[in-house]
Amino acid sequence: MKTKNHIRIKTPAEVDILRKAGKILSSIIAELKCSLTAGMTTKAIDQNAEAIIKKHNVASAFKGYRRFPGHACISVNEGVVHGVGNGRVVKAGDIVSIDVGIIYNNYYSDTAVTVPIGQVSPEAQKLLDIARLALCRGIEQARVNKHLSDISYAVQSCVELHGFSVVRDFVGHGIGRQLHEDPEIPNYGKPGEGPLLQEGMVLAIEPMVNMGTHRTRILDDGWSVVTQDGKPSAHFEHCIVVTAQGPEILTGE
Ligand code: MG
Repeated sequence: MKTKNHIRIKTPAEVDILRKAGKILSSIIAELKCSLTAGMTTKAIDQNAEAIIKKHNVASAFKGYRRFPGHACISVNEGVVHGVGNGRVVKAGDIVSIDVGIIYNNYYSDTAVTVPIGQVSPEAQKLLDIARLALCRGIEQARVNKHLSDISYAVQSCVELHGFSVVRDFVGHGIGRQLHEDPEIPNYGKPGEGPLLQEGMVLAIEPMVNMGTHRTRILDDGWSVVTQDGKPSAHFEHCIVVTAQGPEILTGE
C-alpha cells in the first residue's frame, strides 16, 4: 500500500517481521558494542561485525550496497557516518559510531550507536548524551497525526539548545522491504510540515550531531563522511513503527 507521498504503510504481518529483525539487530549491535576496546583497528571492528551478523543468520544490509566495502559503518571522532573500516587504531578517549543494517526475511533493519572508548572528555560525553537525547526527542514525535517535520524540529531544537549542530547533508528514512524508503527525515526544519504520520509507518530516525560546524565532507575512499572542521560528531539511530498507542522502538535493547 502506498500513500501519495510514496510512504509504504506496513501491514501488521510486516511489522511483526520488522519487529523480529529489530530484535536480532539490537542483539548484534549490543554484542559489537561490548567487543569495542582501545587498540583495535576499525577494520577489526568491521570483521567482528561480519562474524556477529553471520552468527545471527542474517545478512549485512550495507555490504555491497552501492559497492560499500564494509559490513558495518564505523566512524571515529570527526567521522559522521559511512566510515569504512581500515587500519585506523581506536584509542582511549575516542568516540566510535557503529551503524549496522541487516536483511532478515527480505526486510531491512538499521540502527546506530556512538560509544565512548575508555574515558572521554566531558565535551565528548555531552555530545553523546545530547545526540542520544535528540533521538529520544525525535522518536517522541512519531505519533499518528503529527507531521513528519515535527520529528525534525524536535531533534534540531534539542541539539541547538545545547550548543551543537545537526548535519544537513544526510537524513533519516523510511525502511522496510528497502533499506531507504520514503520519506526522507531531515534532522532540522520547522514543525507542522510534510506528510501526516500514520499507523504502520516504519521510520529510521538518525540524528547526526556535530560539536562544531554542521558542514561535512567526504574522504577519498568515496564513503567516509567527516566534519569539515575536524571536530567530533555523534550518531544514534533507531527504527520505530508508528502505532495507535505511540511510537514503538523496533531496535531497542
Ligand atoms: Mg539509516
